[in-house]
Amino acid sequence: MAIRNVVIIGSGCAGHTAALYTARAKLEPLVIEGHEPGGQLSLTTLVENFPGFPEGIQGPELIANMRRQAARFGAEYQLAHVTAANLNGSPFTLQVGRETIQTRTLIIASGASARWLGLPSEQALIGHGVSSCATCDGFFFSGKDIAVIGGGDSAMEEAIFLTRFATKVSLIHRRDEFRASKIMLERAQQHEKIEFIPNTVVEDVLDPAKKEVTALKLREVKTGKSSELPVSAMFLGIGHIPNTKIFEGQLDMDQDGYLKTTNFVFTKIPGVYACGDVQDRRYRQAITAAGSGCMAALEVEKFLENGGTH
Ligand code: NAP
Repeated sequence: MAIRNVVIIGSGCAGHTAALYTARAKLEPLVIEGHEPGGQLSLTTLVENFPGFPEGIQGPELIANMRRQAARFGAEYQLAHVTAANLNGSPFTLQVGRETIQTRTLIIASGASARWLGLPSEQALIGHGVSSCATCDGFFFSGKDIAVIGGGDSAMEEAIFLTRFATKVSLIHRRDEFRASKIMLERAQQHEKIEFIPNTVVEDVLDPAKKEVTALKLREVKTGKSSELPVSAMFLGIGHIPNTKIFEGQLDMDQDGYLKTTNFVFTKIPGVYACGDVQDRRYRQAITAAGSGCMAALEVEKFLENGGTH
């Protein structure tokens, strides 16, 4: 079996940037695209804060451009996901379906996936009115009332986007302070179709028996008062969980499963690097993910040049 120079796990901003740099370094990278090809950018709408696009650019277009750019220099893409990894000694071994892949270096850019509330009724109604992707599913609720859960930028962005379709968007947040950036929060607060419901949690999603969302059971956390909010859909914008399960016991992680790195992208195993949202719980921006993908690629180049040492 041929041993690869470098395999990149994940095809978001970090993965494509690592692919571009390692491809241009003639390392013939293989990118395993993962469960959610394109990562978070492929699920978002207008990106206004990626430098170089003064009018903004649609997230899916931006990520498709990155993929094309890396492919132009020879990056190879495989639409599959890694089910197991053995990082115990070089070459590292990855299980991709029935295939075993060996590689001298590994760049982990597997990102983070949407978080759910964890209610059984919510899980039963995913795809039937419960969604974590406004851009994918918003259209189906044209002319309906919609709820968005969360108090960060994702929730604000989803709420604003959903006003295109919804008659009303109720933004439900468990506190009355918001993590969202000031500009996004103000935009949402000033929107005539968005109503804020702070200090409130969702206790149940109705009605799994009907296989559709008809209402949310809410509880005001300060008074304990319960209420029912009729809506046709619930969109989650409550953050993400890093995709690191296959590295449990092999790489250091924090209490939430984010990979721990030193000097930006180094894991504790020489030749294994992590970049993007899988290791960054602080900045989590497209541009910072791209930056760390570049760093990981440059480290791979140096590592291989030095014959497998730092
Ligand atoms: P976030 O900033 O971590 O916010 C998550 C929100 O969900 C918080 O308000 C949190 O409440 C709430 N939450 C978490 N678990 C919950 C639960 N079990 N039940 C109810 N509420 C829960 O995540 P994010 O909004 O996805 O943003 C992540 C990063 O991406 C940020 O750095 C953000 O700036 C960036 N981003 C940027 C843009 C943009 O610039 N256009 C768009 C989207 C995201 P608490 O506050 O009470 O913890």
